Amino acid sequence: MPSPRYFLNHFMPFTGYPYTGAPTACNLCGSRESVTVAETDRRLKTLKSIACLQCGLIRTDPMPTPDELANYYATAYRADYQLAFAGGPPRHHLNRSAREAAFRADLLAPKLTPGARVLDFGSGSGEFLAAARARGCEAIGVEPGRDYAAYARTHHGVEVLDDADDGRFEPGYFDVITTHHVMEHLRDPADVMERLARWLKPDGVLYAAVPNMAATGKPPHERFHFAHVHGFVRDTCDLTARRAGLVPHTEYWREDTTVVYRKSDAPAGPIAAPGLAQRLATELKPMPAAAYLASGAWIWPMVRRNAKAVRDTFAPK
Ligand SMILES: [Zn+2]
Repeated sequence: MPSPRYFLNHFMPFTGYPYTGAPTACNLCGSRESVTVAETDRRLKTLKSIACLQCGLIRTDPMPTPDELANYYATAYRADYQLAFAGGPPRHHLNRSAREAAFRADLLAPKLTPGARVLDFGSGSGEFLAAARARGCEAIGVEPGRDYAAYARTHHGVEVLDDADDGRFEPGYFDVITTHHVMEHLRDPADVMERLARWLKPDGVLYAAVPNMAATGKPPHERFHFAHVHGFVRDTCDLTARRAGLVPHTEYWREDTTVVYRKSDAPAGPIAAPGLAQRLATELKPMPAAAYLASGAWIWPMVRRNAKAVRDTFAPK
């Protein structure tokens, strides 16, 4: 079990997280100009998020260092967000992954043909790899979370790498690359997207899904938490893909920040979204914390989150 100090560091409202970090330039466009969009996260802990004035990509400021982020994942992440205090993926997580993997496999069915080469970048507990293999594909995963990677290998018998640097695969190797709720966790999502695009065949497809920071029906600060060091909306999702030479594939269903991209030879053009950062600063403007607590608006999201965990835990396999 995590120590009392751990709970203090990670759950006590109105205090910061145990990290120092360093300011960074925007990973998407390189600009250092920004506007603040949030000062607290979903636990009402102090966490500053800024939006790049040039392109609108949201990032944590200061940005946790690679070591701080690695340390956070090694100790806190699963305990924090997935109700898992002892090794191995919890049942409710596996049920949710299985549902999501089935959905993703159906969406990409036209490309998941026998012999197709498939990469799942951030493959978690391996449900999508298993779904792709069931369709006759050659599927491989990349997953730095050791318990999850081990689970995928043991329970699904799939190949999973701990990490994959640029030289790991030949350019143009894969027919299908997917990355589901991974980019928001990375310090360098735009650079990683370029790497994935290089590994994609000229007629390949890349599925990318991230949380939509502009989603309605959520109190603004609910969208922020420490594990998500970048925040996307529809425009910044597409700009990140555009910089990597990708455009939305119009033959596939899309919902905001869940998108299937294809390669394009057309020049990327400027990586900019004039006015987006200011719009996000207005849209994501939080209620003052005391007013928020008094309003009771936090009760419903909390109930909903718990109900979801309960449902996922008891869902039939
Ligand atoms: Zn930018």
